[in-house]
Amino acid sequence: MKARETNAPKPAPTRLTPPERELVAAAKKARLRAHAHQSQFKVGAAARYGNEIVLGCNVESDVYGLTNCAERTAVFAAHASGVARKGLRMIAVIADSPDPVSPCGACRQVLFEQGGPDLRVIMCNTHGDVRVMTLAELLPGGFRLPRTQQRSTTTTTRTPTLRR
Ligand SMILES: [Zn+2]
Repeated sequence: MKARETNAPKPAPTRLTPPERELVAAAKKARLRAHAHQSQFKVGAAARYGNEIVLGCNVESDVYGLTNCAERTAVFAAHASGVARKGLRMIAVIADSPDPVSPCGACRQVLFEQGGPDLRVIMCNTHGDVRVMTLAELLPGGFRLPRTQQRSTTTTTRTPTLRR
């Protein structure tokens, strides 16, 4: 979740569908729960899995490198709650930034793995600016393991080797 630092012109207004607007409203709510005592930069995210919405906010640590972004918090919460099996369909992210906030590189990678290149990312700010992009646009040449390979890795019955 980085605010854009360019002087690029503001994007044209984006029309959102009702489910997209619902997701943005949920992200706004999640932002209020951000634990941003270091930066004061509160970010909210809402991820849609099937008909369910999972919220995320940035959670900062006194050891700043341990901070977790709102987008990844939402994805991890979806896994912890069992909702992730429905597949990530869309995510909204919002912050009080001059331009619509966009996911950082780490979040782009995780989102690519979870939702694939066609995942819709709705980037917003609290002033009402919105920008919608796909993961393929945000992370060209994104990497993820083939799903069958991931499955076979988890079902492999390898005996762990302990070395002393
Ligand atoms: Zn991030």
